Amino acid sequence: MVNVRSSQSLKKFLIAIFSLLFVVLTVFAYFFLIKRPDTTRRSTHVMEYIRYPDKHPEWAVTAGDRCENAPFSMPTNGYIGFLWDDSFRPGHRHSGLDIFGGMENGITPIYAAYDGYLTRQSDWKSTVIIRIPSDPLQPDRQIWMYYTHMADEQGNDFISEDFPPGTREIFVKTGTLLGYQGNFSGTPGNPTGVHLHFSIVEDDDEGHFLNETIIENTLDPSPYFNIILNANQSPPEIPICP
Ligand SMILES: [Zn+2]
Repeated sequence: MVNVRSSQSLKKFLIAIFSLLFVVLTVFAYFFLIKRPDTTRRSTHVMEYIRYPDKHPEWAVTAGDRCENAPFSMPTNGYIGFLWDDSFRPGHRHSGLDIFGGMENGITPIYAAYDGYLTRQSDWKSTVIIRIPSDPLQPDRQIWMYYTHMADEQGNDFISEDFPPGTREIFVKTGTLLGYQGNFSGTPGNPTGVHLHFSIVEDDDEGHFLNETIIENTLDPSPYFNIILNANQSPPEIPICP
């Protein structure tokens, strides 16, 4: 009697364990195989491009180029390695574009992609933001262009001397040099790959930009560049002008 009972509870226990395992594996598969297939493939491409940029010149966009009818011009040279809404880990959603120049720190120039008013807060080491009073795609609203990683791994900046910390509301025309790509991650001594992160950030309707790390506060950059740059819609091909 005792043996039958304990074997039944063992069976229940095993069923519970396997059910739990099934749920965990399903969640894992969803994030890693269904939700993130392109991010994984793009990571492979980024590693390849960083190592051998000269082997893949056709992957790169050129600073200043404008795809047909696009309001924004390309802010820098390089491979658009990660897209808007890529996911680097379960639950994470990338709020902008990562463009890898394939060069060392401080070499690949970065330019204003559209006319606007540049601000650099006094504690910003690697970042500037440009206010566009009238969104070219929805003129009744204000939007912002957020540029970051313009510093070395210790946070020494590669931003143009025209825009020191504390700069506020300086008018810049499309094509103005802002600085150079760097590998500052935000934490000194913990570098990322050399690239530009570029986000289009929404306004709070009172004249301030919203927190750009939250994807809901940012806009899909696709229509601004006239390239599919939404990770969920991007075809397998490398993103360049159609
Ligand atoms: Zn990024």
